[in-house]
Amino acid sequence: MRFDVITLFPELVESLLQSGIPRRAEQSGAIELHCWNPRDYSKDKHRTVDDRPYGGGPGMVMKADCLLDTIAASKQSIAANRNATEAKVIYLSPQGKQLDQAAIATLANENHLTLLCGRYEGIDERVIELAVDEEWSIGDYVLSGGELGAMVLIDAISRLLPNVLGHKDSAAQDSFSEGLLDCPHYTRPICVNDLAVPDILTSGNHAAIAKWRKQQALGRTQQRRPDLLQKKRLSPEEQTLLAQYLEKTS
Ligand code: SAM
Repeated sequence: MRFDVITLFPELVESLLQSGIPRRAEQSGAIELHCWNPRDYSKDKHRTVDDRPYGGGPGMVMKADCLLDTIAASKQSIAANRNATEAKVIYLSPQGKQLDQAAIATLANENHLTLLCGRYEGIDERVIELAVDEEWSIGDYVLSGGELGAMVLIDAISRLLPNVLGHKDSAAQDSFSEGLLDCPHYTRPICVNDLAVPDILTSGNHAAIAKWRKQQALGRTQQRRPDLLQKKRLSPEEQTLLAQYLEKTS
C-alpha cells in the first residue's frame, strides 16, 4: 500500500519507518511512503505556505494554491505508477469523523492513500471542498499538526496488511477486532511479587484457555467499555461466560 503524505515536516513522518512494525512493513514492501512538502510548490521566493485569515483573528492559514498543487503533483506521481488507481485524499482534522478500528480496516483495503497534514489554524476551506475525499480525526483534542494523525493511521493500517505481523492471528486477537477489548496477557516468570499466572494458562488445555480468554475479554469490555458491548450481539454461550465473570468479580 502506498501512502503519500503532504506535510511541512517530512522528517517527522519519515521517522515512523525507523523502527518496529512500520519499518518491517516498509522493508517487506507492504507499504511505501512518499512525502510531499507544500513549500516546494510555493509561488514565492520565501517559499511561503501560509497567510493571515480573512476576517482577522489569531494565527495563520495554509494557502490553497500550494496545497492544491502539491496534491496534484502527488496524484500525478501515483498515476504514473503501474496499476495505479486514484488515491483517496484524507485530511487529518479534529473536525473529522473519529478513527476507530473498523475505519482502519476499511482504509486498509485501499491501494493508495494521500494524507494531508494541516498546521497553524488549519488549511484554506476551499482545499477541503475541491480536493479532500474524507476527513478523519484521531480524537477529541487539538494537535499542532496533522503529522501525528497521519502516523497513527499508517501504523494502524500497516499491522493489518498481509504478512506484516509475526503471527497471522495477532491482529485478529487485538482489541476492537471482534468488538471486544483484548484479554490480559502474561509471560515468564510464573510468579511476580507473589502474583501468579492464572492456572488455566499453564494447563495445556487449549479449549479451556480459549474459553477463559473469551470470558476475560467479555468481562473487561463490560467493565471498561460497556458502549462496545451494547453494539455487539452476544451468543448464549458468551452471555453465560459474561454472567459467570461478573458473578466472580462482584
Ligand atoms: N483550528 C483548527 C480547529 O480548531 O479545528 C485546529 C488546527 S490544528 C492547531 C492544526 C492541524 O492539526 C489541523 O489542520 C489538523 O491537520 C491537525 N489536527 C489537529 N488536531 C487533530 C486531530 N484531533 N486529529 C487529526 N488531526 C488533527
